[in-house]
Amino acid sequence: MHQRIPWSLRFRFFAALGGLLLCAMAALAAISAWVIFPALQAEERATVKRELDRVERSFQLDQQQLHAQVRDWAHWDDTYKFVQGEYSRYADVNFSQEMFEDMRYQLMAFFTSNEDIYFLAGINPKTGIYQTCRTPINDCSWMSPWVNNMRAAIAENSTDQNSIYAGPPTAMMASSPILRTDKSGVSTGWLFKTRSLDAEWLAFMEVYTGLPLTLNLSHEAAPINDTFSFSGNTVYAERYFPAYGSINHLSLGVGIELNRTNYLTSLTTFRYVLLWTAGLMIMVIALVLLLLEKIVLKPLRLLTQFTQQISTVGADTHGLTKRNDEIGLLSRAFQEQFTCQQQLNAELLKLSTHDALTGLPNRRLFDQRLDVAFSEATATSAPLAVMMLDIDHFKLYNDHYGHQRGDECLQQVASAFNSVSTRFGFLIARTGGEEFSVILPEASPSSAKDVGEHLMLAIDHLQLPHATSPVKPFVTVSVGIAMLQDCQSQTPSAVMSSADQALYLAKAAGRHQVVLFEPSLASRSVSAHNKLL
Ligand code: GH3
Ligand code: MG
Ligand code: MG
Repeated sequence: MHQRIPWSLRFRFFAALGGLLLCAMAALAAISAWVIFPALQAEERATVKRELDRVERSFQLDQQQLHAQVRDWAHWDDTYKFVQGEYSRYADVNFSQEMFEDMRYQLMAFFTSNEDIYFLAGINPKTGIYQTCRTPINDCSWMSPWVNNMRAAIAENSTDQNSIYAGPPTAMMASSPILRTDKSGVSTGWLFKTRSLDAEWLAFMEVYTGLPLTLNLSHEAAPINDTFSFSGNTVYAERYFPAYGSINHLSLGVGIELNRTNYLTSLTTFRYVLLWTAGLMIMVIALVLLLLEKIVLKPLRLLTQFTQQISTVGADTHGLTKRNDEIGLLSRAFQEQFTCQQQLNAELLKLSTHDALTGLPNRRLFDQRLDVAFSEATATSAPLAVMMLDIDHFKLYNDHYGHQRGDECLQQVASAFNSVSTRFGFLIARTGGEEFSVILPEASPSSAKDVGEHLMLAIDHLQLPHATSPVKPFVTVSVGIAMLQDCQSQTPSAVMSSADQALYLAKAAGRHQVVLFEPSLASRSVSAHNKLL
């Protein structure tokens, strides 16, 4: 039978492991949200920044090269002479469409020390044709915005540098004062070179950096930090460089678009790991619960069943006591305990129904058996005899031999009685100090008398010395017998009383004899009783 236990071990384990699982899941979620995902995002940003750094370095390298080239040309005697008007073939000798295309120059501008334009050469961005002019007008008007910017740079005295010109069109611009090759003397003017930051330049930079680039002009000052925008599988990042133009606070943003493959792969991998970890934890907990059920809870239930049924069924049907584990130990300990308790119970029962000195049944058991025998006899109208036996002059025995010897005598008498009762199969009990009683179901008066004599003789045969007995020099007993059918009232106590009367008659008649109660003897027994008293 299954008993419902509100706080069963199964429920506790389930609750504890479930709680553990929830805590672990929460910890995993927290670690993911606050540590792993931010770390992955930071790593992605760092990777994109490294790519931006690479683009910036390439950009700066291109600017530095342009600046180095402009200085190389500006610090050259031929250029010096050209600006002073002493070398008229300078342009024809050194400039050509191929040279501008190879060097990726858009415009070269020579200024005199008076800040006037001396010579302009470049490739028209619209037509792609090489042109030379003295002033940026007509066909050379495309040069005008750049030339104005160059004038502004000369006016601000910031000519030995490279910078980004916002345009349009947007370009990088490098300049240097014109000096002799040995750099002696004063400057005779300025040389400017521009390189358009057009689609061609972007294509060149893309090949150089291996990254797809975009350029964005902004009418705001260059932000210090890079900007990132994430969308789906791509990330777009931009870095800003200050640019100069007709208005202040311009900036050029160089942008790159990168695949987020690494980040997304790491993310997917990590999500798989998370899912697997959670799944594995659930599996482990389910397995633990299953093992717990099989190894602990089920044997415990069987043990409970075993303890409940041991007194009724008794058998160890599930072989629990043969197990080589803690359940086996418990079962064996319980079985031993149970056997021990049963023995104690039996002993207690014996103590409560038997006499401690002689080991014979006591009055309590005798009365119970008498009731049963009486009921059976009255129900079946069968005869029933009861017998009372009393040691003669036992007081004198005690007085003479002492109480200890008296006890030993009682034990020997009881043992002899017990042998006879075992032989004939009847109950004899010690019902008083030196008094014994017998129940003889279905016994006739003669057979009852016969049993009485057997008992009396059994004591005679013991020949226990009784020096002070007036009857015999050895211990003797007197016997009184009563038949149920001879009693006036048909009750157990009436039969016992009749047997008692018969015993008194035996005592009065000189002891050491068997007397069968007869109704006619009743009055004699009263007088005998008085006489004995
Ligand atoms: P009677 O022949 O008339 O029976 O004389 P009696 O002396 O045997 O009878 P009485 O009733 O005068 O004395 C019984 C004695 O039995 C008194 C008591 O000291 C003794 N006796 C009773 N129980 C025990 C016992 O357990 N041990 C011992 N040693 N003596 C007991
Ligand atoms: Mg007595
Ligand atoms: Mg006596």
